[in-house]
Amino acid sequence: MIAPRLEIDLDKIFQNAVTLVERLAERGISVTGVTKATLGSPEIAGTLLRAGVKALGDSRIENIESMRHAHVPASMTLIRSPMISQADRVVAHADISFNTELDVISKLSSAACDAGRTHGIVLMVELGDLREGIMPRDLEKTVRETLRLPNIVIKGIGANLACRSGVSPDANNMAELSALADSIDSTFGPTVHVVSGGNSANLLWALSGATIGRINDLRLGESILLGRETLHRQPIDGLHTDAMTLIAEVVESKIKPTQPWGEIAQTAFGEELCAIDQGNISQAILAIGRQDIDPGGLVAPLGIELLGASSDHLVVDSGPNPLPIGAEVRFQLNYGALVRAMTSPYVAKIIRSHIPA
Ligand SMILES: *Cc1c(COP(=O)(O)O)cnc(C)c1O
Repeated sequence: MIAPRLEIDLDKIFQNAVTLVERLAERGISVTGVTKATLGSPEIAGTLLRAGVKALGDSRIENIESMRHAHVPASMTLIRSPMISQADRVVAHADISFNTELDVISKLSSAACDAGRTHGIVLMVELGDLREGIMPRDLEKTVRETLRLPNIVIKGIGANLACRSGVSPDANNMAELSALADSIDSTFGPTVHVVSGGNSANLLWALSGATIGRINDLRLGESILLGRETLHRQPIDGLHTDAMTLIAEVVESKIKPTQPWGEIAQTAFGEELCAIDQGNISQAILAIGRQDIDPGGLVAPLGIELLGASSDHLVVDSGPNPLPIGAEVRFQLNYGALVRAMTSPYVAKIIRSHIPA
């Protein structure tokens, strides 16, 4: 079979999404399915929608455009601040975008006027993770200015944690987001309809029995695709952690020493190697590399150990049994390796499902 390839089990993704949608519904929270790790795959998007996600979110307008062209029937949110240079495309294809800069919102407003459309805005608030977000003290002013702009509708507010700095969503920062929603509504009348509390890192908080307050939506990607929460990367009870599998093929298999010889300088990727002498091993080379995956994000099957990777070669110790040439090795992946594999044109994507579309 074609290699390398990423096997995508749509039934497992469906079951993961259904489980999360149901558990969060009990807490009054809807799910925006985040498709950014899937390169806007219409099959995966359709699976998320059948599982009951309320809308789709992606950080790249290109992915939203491909889902539109594939006629994926959903409300779509651009979850990274639009580039001013892409305002026209954003207004044409995304229903809503996440924003933190008035310059961008005002460009979206003029693009929306030109196109004869209205565009929805979620204002992102900084709650401590120090990635995107309006500082809380500036939110009211930004709402006031945004409300003046034609063809722009404020849908709500949101926050994103646990990405740049690993700040955990908790009772305090979620209560702060709720309080901001209340404060905006009391100043401007009912304005905040969506309070988008965060990503897969919010699940422990949301399902812990904590006070949910005004939070009524979460944006979930990794937890649906890989079945794990993202604060500690623990499997979520009842979810599949093996919906995605990467398969690579052996192109060399030899008994070799563990120690290189000759004068040692930098590797192809500028690292300094430190190999422990373990005598001779069965070393195999798989035809996949850093162009296609993040080698640190691969989980090898039992008995196989990753030794190193360059652009196109992944070197493994296959233990006591040499791997035959042409054999396939199956890996689980973390999110970083998944994103890299999904975006590599050299990795085939094979979608499997028992349920007819
Ligand atoms: C990627 C992203 C998400 C989804 O995060 P997961 O950890 O995959 O659930 C949600 N919101 C924003 C703003 C993102 O960039």
